Amino acid sequence: MDRNIRYTCNVCESNDLREIIDLGEHPNADNFLKKEDLSKKEVFYPLIVDRCNKCGHMQNRIKVKSEDRYSKIEYSYTSDNSAVSQNHFKELAEYAIKECFLTKESFVIEPGSNIGTLIESIKEISKCKVLGIDPSPNVSNLANKRGINTKCSFFNQKSINEFKNVDLIIGCNVLNHMDNPNEIFSVSNHCLKKDGSIIVEVPCGDELINNCYFDTIYHEHVNYFNKYSLAILGAKWGYELIKVTLVDYMGGSLRAVFKKKGGNIVHKKKLNINYNFLKEEKINAFRTRTFYFKEKLSKELYSINSTGKSKIFCLGAATKGNTLLNYLNLNSQIIEGIGDTMPLKHNKYTPGSRIRIFDENYVLKNATHIYILPWNLIDLISSKIKKYNIEIINISP
Ligand SMILES: [Zn+2]
Repeated sequence: MDRNIRYTCNVCESNDLREIIDLGEHPNADNFLKKEDLSKKEVFYPLIVDRCNKCGHMQNRIKVKSEDRYSKIEYSYTSDNSAVSQNHFKELAEYAIKECFLTKESFVIEPGSNIGTLIESIKEISKCKVLGIDPSPNVSNLANKRGINTKCSFFNQKSINEFKNVDLIIGCNVLNHMDNPNEIFSVSNHCLKKDGSIIVEVPCGDELINNCYFDTIYHEHVNYFNKYSLAILGAKWGYELIKVTLVDYMGGSLRAVFKKKGGNIVHKKKLNINYNFLKEEKINAFRTRTFYFKEKLSKELYSINSTGKSKIFCLGAATKGNTLLNYLNLNSQIIEGIGDTMPLKHNKYTPGSRIRIFDENYVLKNATHIYILPWNLIDLISSKIKKYNIEIINISP
């Protein structure tokens, strides 16, 4: 047995797993490189997704140490990176306050709190006590500098030992990153009040398949949940999934509210979840669309590049763009650079593909052709390109 392979489902522990897609070898997608890192060798791991035939949960086959993913690098994602995410966190904060009746007496902990955008909103509106927990030294520092009390650690029993009587544990885009998603529930059992709640938001695995969001697959995204696998996971630890809704965030996310049921295991038979398993044809169509997209976009980029007069740039150095770039084996010989509005990313290089990131204005002034990496936002982003004499390469999966 290879210790680096997941042989059983992270949720229901079945070993009845089946490959959904193999995207080749990739480094960690969030590990943007500084210039001095370019002389070092990057580690690549196979990026393969398996699906559990029992509960429909999907997960990456290969384990990548979480220390390598978060603690050892200067993590570049900050949760305030766009107006869309800021609005989303505000809306989620209002939802959580209403759903859990939070007041100024309440206590809320957020694992994977990043720079604290979500708990800051919760604190501002409800005046309650908040604590963020994040394993990345640079983002937890930023959070504390912003006045959001944040502990630099993974969310585990040791890190929450001193905290009791917590009303709500809330995690947005966190459970999907966890090597062992059971941990959020087992750890919460030690600090939540008897009637406490857990709210999680995770990208929906079924939406990934239906909309061909293959580029949201990367080593940091260990788990791709559906509402049935979420319910099973909570039930194992005595939590009832009382509400689950599909929200319009990150291409479709599941927002799930769990209530602690006095520590009693909720039996699977009692799970009142109306869930239809994805059909085989949908999974096959996803695979075909992804392969076809690779062929079509590669062909177009090489053809434009062969004229010798073009300068192809990309826009939007989002993490998911790295899956796309590495899956298509692109590098700086084809793509001159990537434009991004986030200063934290400027002059860094994309992992694997090693393409330099520039200020967006530089790219708009120098490009002849642009490919928009967050291709699902093409309408929004292409509006700012219109006034320049730039051709937009409009190919999406
Ligand atoms: Zn399963």
